[in-house]
Amino acid sequence: MKRWKPPQHILGALTIFDGRSGARGVLLKLCIAASLLWMFGGTAGALDWPVAKKVLTATFGENRWNHFHDGIDIGGGNQQVHPSADGEIIFRFEEGSDSRDLPTGLGSFLVLQNTSEFRTLYAHFQKGTMISDKTSVTTGDVLGIVGDTGDSLGSHLHFSVIDTKKGEYLNPLTLLPPLEDTQSPVISSVSLEQNKKSVALGSPMSIPAGKTSLLATVYDPSQYVDYYNPMAPFEIDAAVNGQQLFKITYDRLKAKDGKMYLQPSDGRTFDNYYVATWQVRLGTFELKPGDARIVVTAHDFSGNESSRSYDLTVPAAESGSGATGAGG
Ligand SMILES: [Zn+2]
Repeated sequence: MKRWKPPQHILGALTIFDGRSGARGVLLKLCIAASLLWMFGGTAGALDWPVAKKVLTATFGENRWNHFHDGIDIGGGNQQVHPSADGEIIFRFEEGSDSRDLPTGLGSFLVLQNTSEFRTLYAHFQKGTMISDKTSVTTGDVLGIVGDTGDSLGSHLHFSVIDTKKGEYLNPLTLLPPLEDTQSPVISSVSLEQNKKSVALGSPMSIPAGKTSLLATVYDPSQYVDYYNPMAPFEIDAAVNGQQLFKITYDRLKAKDGKMYLQPSDGRTFDNYYVATWQVRLGTFELKPGDARIVVTAHDFSGNESSRSYDLTVPAAESGSGATGAGG
């Protein structure tokens, strides 16, 4: 039996490094380390892992072709699924062979109401295994068996946490007990885009001043998946000459005006964020004449870090090149 501990305090900790103006890299790293320690020391484990064998195969915020992945995927075979916290089953959909059944990518799935604000969702159950004899469940109950019904490329549990009051999906990893991850994220390329033309950065190089978009290809490999698909990192930040430009944290997705926003304060939708499978548009800024050192840093949820830096020479833009506006 486990009662849900409301995660507001965790969200509070995450907002420590939400603001991007004026924060310095070092201070930021300290904040992240302190927050992660604090979370792991005090509040990670607000939820239980819904399965015993935890093989994380996909993380929160990943590119799913036309939308952000709004939960995590856990492999580990056809094992039992338990509630992450006590709750009431408020929605249950069993995938059937009947063609009149509502089609859904989630396959056979359940939604639990855990508190007045929080819901947890469990998807892709093996056909016919979902609990059907009661609606009030505790963490000792079995909700069903992990399967691959619906839009699934193999047996796994899709697990989402929803804050209905805020209209947000939360990254379940911020609420579950920590999982070991021994591999650092990979930043395989960083590019600048000016006037719709992009150039992959090497060092040293010369790039004209002006309005510039910063793009990065970032993924997080894991010891749990030895096949092709890596996962999304937990955080990416970018700085120019030591000044932080962008910081993206994969902690929540907010639903607004029929769209989902990653890190809602910055208005990142799937369409303006993802450029390719693992390539993201971090943001647009004004590249100023002079020397510029661009540093992109990525963290996974376990705090492993990778960083790439590039030294650029930036000649003043020729007039008429469109280098106007404040950027940002
Ligand atoms: Zn999933």
